[in-house]
Amino acid sequence: MLKRLLLVGAGHSHLEVIRKLKEEPFPNVEVCLLSPSTYQYYSGMFSGYTEGLYGLDDTRVNLKELTDAAGVHFVKKMVDRVLPERKKIVCKDRSVYPFDVISFDIGSRSLPHDMEDTVARTIKPNYEFVDQINHLRETHNPLLVGGGAAGSELAMSIQAYKERKQIPGQVRLVSANRLLAEAPKRVSKKLESLITKKGIQVWENERVVEIHEHHIKTEQGNRIRHTGVLWLGGAIADPIFKSSGIGHDERGFAYVKDTLQFEDYTHIFGAGDCVTMSSYPDLAKSGVYAVRQGPVLWENLKNYLSEGELKAYQPQSQALYILSTGHKKGFFTYGLVTNHSHRAWKLKNKIDTQFMNKYK
Ligand SMILES: Cc1cc2nc3c(=O)[nH]c(=O)nc-3n(C[C@H](O)[C@H](O)[C@H](O)COP(=O)(O)OP(=O)(O)OC[C@H]3O[C@@H](n4cnc5c(N)ncnc54)[C@H](O)[C@@H]3O)c2cc1C
Repeated sequence: MLKRLLLVGAGHSHLEVIRKLKEEPFPNVEVCLLSPSTYQYYSGMFSGYTEGLYGLDDTRVNLKELTDAAGVHFVKKMVDRVLPERKKIVCKDRSVYPFDVISFDIGSRSLPHDMEDTVARTIKPNYEFVDQINHLRETHNPLLVGGGAAGSELAMSIQAYKERKQIPGQVRLVSANRLLAEAPKRVSKKLESLITKKGIQVWENERVVEIHEHHIKTEQGNRIRHTGVLWLGGAIADPIFKSSGIGHDERGFAYVKDTLQFEDYTHIFGAGDCVTMSSYPDLAKSGVYAVRQGPVLWENLKNYLSEGELKAYQPQSQALYILSTGHKKGFFTYGLVTNHSHRAWKLKNKIDTQFMNKYK
């Protein structure tokens, strides 16, 4: 009998599952991808797009083309709830899709609920990225909230864009902790000095508590003027798992086992930012892991559907990060090792271009 596998969200792991399906279709399984945009935007290319190094099509995968080539149905919809026992999902437009097996790779959100009615912008889900950045990078004093890898990198890319286009003004970066708080202090210090030298104004250890049309306020009472705010203050869970009664961590990310199956339901799988691995609850919400989970997710979906044995995914203990710092230079970090050079950018460009070429 024909079974139905639903892939919800076109995140990194699902791109890999779809690519593999092109090579090796699952027998007697109808596969559908549900995602709200025809394109999947790749965050590794966001900095290069922002600065003006890459064009629109360099940054995105056309999901219609990818799924057509793999014999997967593409449904352009946002999923709202899952009914795990009844094996159905409900979309935002109230349409319902039944399934035998389902997998989630829907990423994370970034704008906190209490900031939703302010002028703060978000680039999550990632199809929001282009419109938001196109607007923000043209303004005088764009302010980024969040001093993690994403906030720091985009602050430098906007600054580089402004220099290229001779747009006056200065980028502002406000961080509730030190920059790159998860990295060793020495690495944060290096990045902070680099960013400051570029003329970006940085406020570390200042939490933004209010956003107004032309200024923000921090917990310490500082008022900082802006011409647009982009919120990149860390990953927030989509409410779908909480509202569907799925087991989740304290932030709302669904718990998965090492096999990438949900804790409570073996017929539901998940990967990427939207899940928390019960065995590695502190694993960063980072594309590196979403990419590495892809091949394991593929194997496990295939084996689950054919009653084979499932594999365990084991994350690497340390991940390499390269932040683009503008003008084709990169800041490479791996544990305590750092390097700021054109070579680092070239390596990042190579990794990102190879990733995108796999799905074109
Ligand atoms: C500027 C920036 C730079 C970054 N750089 C790096 C980096 O260099 N290295 C790194 O490791 N990480 C980086 N990250 C983090 C990285 O982007 C995320 O960790 C990664 O995108 C998560 O991938 P994912 O597969 O979980 O989901 P995503 O890539 O976010 O994809 C989620 C998909 O699900 C879809 N979707 C969302 N909600 C629904 C729904 N309800 N129903 C159906 N579909 C849905 C979305 O449209 C999207 O297609 C960066 C982030 C930013 C913002």
